[in-house]
Amino acid sequence: MLMHIDMDAFFASVEQQINPALRGKPVIVGSRDNKYHTVVAAASYEAKAYGIKSGMSSYEALKVCPHAEFVACDSAKYTYVSREIFELLHDYSPCVEHSTIDEFDLRIAGLEPIFGSFLDLGKLIKKRIREAFGLNCSVGIAPTWILAKLGTKIRKPDGLILINDANLDTIIKGLPIEKICGIGPALTAHLQGLGVFSCDQLKTTPQEILIDNFGQSTGHWLYQVLRTDLSRSDLVFKVGPYTQNLEPKSIGHSYTLPRETRDKNVIYAWLRMLSEMVAERARKSHFTGRTVAIWISSKNDSSNRQKTYSIPTNDGWEIFVRSRAILGQKKGIIPVVKALGVSLSGLISDCALPLLTEQKKREALLSAMDRVNARYGDWTLSPAVLNLINPR
Ligand SMILES: [Mg+2]
Repeated sequence: MLMHIDMDAFFASVEQQINPALRGKPVIVGSRDNKYHTVVAAASYEAKAYGIKSGMSSYEALKVCPHAEFVACDSAKYTYVSREIFELLHDYSPCVEHSTIDEFDLRIAGLEPIFGSFLDLGKLIKKRIREAFGLNCSVGIAPTWILAKLGTKIRKPDGLILINDANLDTIIKGLPIEKICGIGPALTAHLQGLGVFSCDQLKTTPQEILIDNFGQSTGHWLYQVLRTDLSRSDLVFKVGPYTQNLEPKSIGHSYTLPRETRDKNVIYAWLRMLSEMVAERARKSHFTGRTVAIWISSKNDSSNRQKTYSIPTNDGWEIFVRSRAILGQKKGIIPVVKALGVSLSGLISDCALPLLTEQKKREALLSAMDRVNARYGDWTLSPAVLNLINPR
């Protein structure tokens, strides 16, 4: 069994926790610090009630809700909280994965006798996250990753759901197919053309029809996606079975943007955040890497670009600088981006690096910050690295 945890309105909720004056109010987190000329990176639930969504222009959002509070996106803050949640989750399962900055996966098979039941474990984790961070999350528990993720989507916000063979068919009845992670607008339109609009219709569509229409690989995936057949590991686990002892070949993170964009600043902000997450994981597993790769997906295609450097790194800023260079290497043209990934490969054990002095300084800085915050309260000090990536 897998537990998928998705934080509710994560960036906006973090801002509301840090600044109590924002609580209970519509809050817009802008991707950069320019209230009327930016994109909504996140909206609080109070703002969502006005129809404000991530990906909207802030101008549009402020037109429907002129009294909304505006805060500029501070990725360092969210990365920090995300790491803290990640640490906390290790109290409940030895196998925790960071799915994206605000999503986590836990393997929980065999843990129910310790915590009562899977649902009890879900309740406990939700309570713990709320107490520790003041944040709500939605929890989906299912035999496969896709179903666990679906669970969080249909029970948002503050949801908790267990999906198993007994209730699966009831849950998916009438549910639009686009709720399934991986079924985007193009696939949705194609399926609708075949008369398949809902998840239960998809599940009863014969495998041959799906393969005829979508090819072997996608057709088979569509056939399997709402089943609890555990033979396909790509459906069961989003990422390969990763254990601390296993040496990874590469370390990567990816993110699907709320809306396609070619806004350089928005793309850079996400690259920066993904780079930080990659760096964090590399440092934790004591690796450093020489090859930085970016993966870009837009409406019609996706591409991988990579470059190997002579000096290995596991520094988030350095990975960001490299990935930014790779992104702009085609005559400086920034492509339209729908989803984005950053990975580090060519991994070697982290020892005697040229960057070591720099890293030591940084580690000392972070631990000093932790000590100050432990003594004077959370967020007395927080990293301000976003200044580096918010070119106006
Ligand atoms: Mg979320």
